[in-house]
Amino acid sequence: MTIRVLEEKCNGCGLCVVSCLFDAIEIIAQKAEIKDNCNFCGACVDACPKEAILLEKKEVIKKDLSAYKGVWIFAENRNGKLAKVSFELLGEGKKLATSLGENLSAVLFGEQTENNCQELLKRGADTVYVMDEPALKNFQDDPYVELLTYLVNQYKPEILLIPATSQGRSFAPRVAARLQTGLTADCTGLEIEEKTKLLYQTRPTFGGNLMATIICENERPQMSTVRPKIFTEAEVQSPKGKIINIPLPQNSGESRINLMEILKNKEENIDLADSDIIVSGGRGLGEAKKFSLVSDLAKVLGGVVGASRAAVDADWIHYAHQVGQTGKTVRPHLYIACGISGAVQHLAGMQTSEVIVAINKDPEAPIFKVANYGIVGDLFEVIPALIKKFS
Ligand SMILES: Cc1cc2nc3c(=O)[nH]c(=O)nc-3n(C[C@H](O)[C@H](O)[C@H](O)COP(=O)(O)OP(=O)(O)OC[C@H]3O[C@@H](n4cnc5c(N)ncnc54)[C@H](O)[C@@H]3O)c2cc1C
Repeated sequence: MTIRVLEEKCNGCGLCVVSCLFDAIEIIAQKAEIKDNCNFCGACVDACPKEAILLEKKEVIKKDLSAYKGVWIFAENRNGKLAKVSFELLGEGKKLATSLGENLSAVLFGEQTENNCQELLKRGADTVYVMDEPALKNFQDDPYVELLTYLVNQYKPEILLIPATSQGRSFAPRVAARLQTGLTADCTGLEIEEKTKLLYQTRPTFGGNLMATIICENERPQMSTVRPKIFTEAEVQSPKGKIINIPLPQNSGESRINLMEILKNKEENIDLADSDIIVSGGRGLGEAKKFSLVSDLAKVLGGVVGASRAAVDADWIHYAHQVGQTGKTVRPHLYIACGISGAVQHLAGMQTSEVIVAINKDPEAPIFKVANYGIVGDLFEVIPALIKKFS
């Protein structure tokens, strides 16, 4: 796509500058100049009363994509166990496959994978493509990128869903680049559009203030990464599918990285996404050592500690505890927000919790709009009272 200003028509009125959400136009010597950060949205074209901005789309040569069929999910194997997000992708993948009238498949890499393959079949996979090799026991970018690309080129799925976990976020973009297709990261909604049968991939944008729906019209597969806890897990059913064992192609599975040891970070091991009770603290706590109040409440309730980004940015608590758009998405039975205002980016990570309790001294705080129970008060009085009550 190209964009240019027709100098003979531009009178430097500046309406295009006002219309540009990306601050990508400047008026220099009474003429509009388009900067490198233009994303070709076309808002300035519509805003220009002189028709002085020309947006030219290159003609796309339509490819024959009819060979691409079916929905694939990448099943994440962590230390030999399937991550729950794999079942969430199967649940959502099934809906997409049903809308398309096609099959749902899972791809699994690992060692001694038999039980996990059976598990994937029980969760509704019609086919499990598995590569079972000692070299694939632990996640490594290089072989995972190479082998998933190989499988896609061999079997040509129409849609490929990958968990938006640290593994998926690391290798999915590289797979997309090798396949020369698009990738929509961190999707929160997926749907097949009835007429075109295209995958509508919805994700938050502009810091969570807008939702964008993205399509991948001219390349295949249509690839998305999906955050854990966005979709519900596929139900267990009697397995009907089949397992296809695929040997490593010759001279493949190599990594440029030599994995010597896996060290577990105590903080990163906290099971925030899978906890039933989360007590989160925000800037209202005032300082790092006050997080002990939140931990004490979490402890008496048998829960774990979460945090807002403000608390993480202030270095009061490790990032592994952050809930929200750039942290974890959680859906516990009980979420208690202490001294958290309820910014849209925080809500994006917790608003589907079953029961939300908010403690905030500001009765107008937006967190109260999503809370089932609100306590307007000073958290330094309310939390000790709750600890006493539940001890
Ligand atoms: C791209 C982007 C991504 C982001 N991602 C995230 C994310 O993943 N997670 C996230 O949380 N934020 C995220 N943010 C930041 C977000 O916009 C907010 O800045 C942040 O959530 C605010 O944290 P907070 O509620 O703890 O702090 P504040 O907004 O400052 O709120 C503090 C609250 O504490 C209350 N309070 C103060 N003292 C007391 C007291 N003694 N007793 C009771 N209440 C008290 C106040 O009334 C106030 O409501 C993101 C922002 C951007 C732009």
